[in-house]
Amino acid sequence: ATKHIIVEDLSVEYLGPTKKIYALQHVSLEIYRGESIALVGESGCGKSTLGVAFIRLLPVNSRITSGRIRFVDGSREINILELSQSELQKIRWSKIVMMAQGALNAFNPVMRIKDHFIDTAYSHGWKNKTEVLKKARYLLERVHLDSERVLNSFPHELSGGMRQRVLLSLGLFLNPEVVILDEPTTALDILTQRNIIELLKELKKEFNFTLIFITHDLSLAAELADRVAVMYAGKIVEVGDVYNIFGTPYHPYTAGLITSTPKLRGKSTEITSIPGSPPNLSEIFKGCPFYERCPLRSSVCLNTPPTLTFVDGQEGHFVACHHASKDTLSKIRQSDWLS
Ligand code: ATP
Ligand code: MG
Repeated sequence: ATKHIIVEDLSVEYLGPTKKIYALQHVSLEIYRGESIALVGESGCGKSTLGVAFIRLLPVNSRITSGRIRFVDGSREINILELSQSELQKIRWSKIVMMAQGALNAFNPVMRIKDHFIDTAYSHGWKNKTEVLKKARYLLERVHLDSERVLNSFPHELSGGMRQRVLLSLGLFLNPEVVILDEPTTALDILTQRNIIELLKELKKEFNFTLIFITHDLSLAAELADRVAVMYAGKIVEVGDVYNIFGTPYHPYTAGLITSTPKLRGKSTEITSIPGSPPNLSEIFKGCPFYERCPLRSSVCLNTPPTLTFVDGQEGHFVACHHASKDTLSKIRQSDWLS
């Protein structure tokens, strides 16, 4: 597989009113061309921060304190963190598009959908309205919407599911190579979620983009992703292909998430969640960030930070845990940790 985006040792902090928040801590991750990768983890673990970092859409109170992000654009490599604002503008939408968390509610309420298309296209050099609307119609049909009706609607006249479809077609307008979706279905009901997931699979097949999909919902990740990166407290704790992550998770946190996700457990509908809460991100912890909650912890975990290490025999599978093993899932299931 060829690399498309390479994140190396990325650290991002937010400056709060009284303290710093270390939201990403030495994150390294490779994204491959044409793949679909899910970033998963509990609320506050840094998923959105990583998502916006890919195109440097971080808020003003943030600082990148280490690392590099390289984007492979044909035969050249672009260092995202060194681009000027105008170079960044060119790349956003046309090469890498990000649909931010909550973007469903970010449409301009006084603009018809067609004007959203026109605005986006014009700001990237298009000049001919007829051409813009022609392409908008084509894309709206691709997401199974009645294009004439939708183009003339105001955002509030459309359902959440329809707005999500519009957003996808708007995102694809400039033929991006990379599409980043942050919790695209969270605000939608289950049935609409399913439809959007099916639609994403279709679009991915037709347009061939690289998909980075952020979700706290493991069943969506299982459905859509080729690979999964599990985040905890500003770090990636496990990454691997979807079968390895769900079949033989090595990290107790991953195993805990899987065990506590009802849909992956067959018929059971009860939801157990992992006891305790993530650590305070205003402090840099000395050992493993999962220590406080971990059923497998020992003294080494308290003082020595685990680093991402190759899992023997499973290509592309890495885990950061001193007690990682192929038996983690059965240990977790046999323990009374989640009961
Ligand atoms: P969620 O699942 O709730 O969307 P997330 O995994 O996307 O969570 P982030 O939004 O990346 O997490 O947040 C990571 C950490 O940084 C959290 O502790 C959060 O409170 C903090 N944070 C995020 N944005 C800001 C900001 N603009 N200013 C200060 N702190 C922030
Ligand atoms: Mg988020």
